[in-house]
Amino acid sequence: MAERMDGKLVSASVKQRVADETAKLKEKGITPGLAVIIVGDDPASRVYVNNKKKACAAVGFYSEEYTLPENTTMEQLLSVIEVLNSREDIDGILCQLPLPEHLDEQAVIDAIAVDKDVDAFSPANVGKIMIGNYDFLPCTPAGVMEMLKYYSIPVAGKHCVVIGRSNIVGKPAAMLMLHENATVTICHSKTQNLKDICKTADILVAAVGKAGFVTADMVKDGAVVIDVGINRIDGKLYGDVAFDEVEKKASFITPVPGGVGPMTIGMLMQNTLKAAKLHHNIEE
Ligand code: NDP
Repeated sequence: MAERMDGKLVSASVKQRVADETAKLKEKGITPGLAVIIVGDDPASRVYVNNKKKACAAVGFYSEEYTLPENTTMEQLLSVIEVLNSREDIDGILCQLPLPEHLDEQAVIDAIAVDKDVDAFSPANVGKIMIGNYDFLPCTPAGVMEMLKYYSIPVAGKHCVVIGRSNIVGKPAAMLMLHENATVTICHSKTQNLKDICKTADILVAAVGKAGFVTADMVKDGAVVIDVGINRIDGKLYGDVAFDEVEKKASFITPVPGGVGPMTIGMLMQNTLKAAKLHHNIEE
């Protein structure tokens, strides 16, 4: 039976670390500031934004929320970002995705100053992640790496299979694994023999967006199974992994909820702290 990796516990340790460092910054008169923009009234986005605000308060950050109506124009949204880009008290800017369809997500991401892009979605920050010389880590994949580290799970030399190749999860997760010297395979909807490939994984990362997609017959005995998926069915959350059957085969597994999800916010706090340090020329 697999050991469950507790995202709430690991995230709490990350947030405590950030809170301790923030307290030290405050002694120097510096308070990290995060601005969160939400457009429209998507209930899931609302929950995420509230959780981010709560986390900011818990670690001692200053935070601001901009709630814009569904019919906000690109021009209006970009002008909010422009003001935030120039504010000295704001270190990080985050625009909650997805945006309503009439808005150009990439243009919005591009508008956020690179040194305030704490989600690490901008092409410049994605490029830095590719090179392996980055200021901000993509929050969800970084959360996965932090959990592996917390549970002392070796990555170097292991075969890591990532199912999913999105820009926000799959690709950066694969890249961070590669930087930690894993041998990485990325799978997607056109992959042939997916099951056979997954069965060779020492570490299997599921970022598909399909409830119960990874079944026990896709998992090697003793594999580490990381479930990034968040699927809402009748108001209940499910991961991409058929947890009950896979738990019996894996050595470690992340539950949903309570696994990777809570980590994302912890890593966002870490990025915002980093942004504040960079803005004030404070060395790590
Ligand atoms: P996307 O929909 O952008 O990407 C899904 C990926 O899964 C695609 O690359 C797609 O392949 C692949 N895929 C779909 N069907 C199959 C299949 N049958 N076989 C193999 N691969 C398949 O999703 P995201 O990456 O944004 O998110 C993935 C999941 O993670 C979602 O459930 C999301 O809610 C969750 N998530 C969780 C976060 C957290 O904080 N824990 C944060 C962000 C996301 P192709 O490219 O070929 O279409």
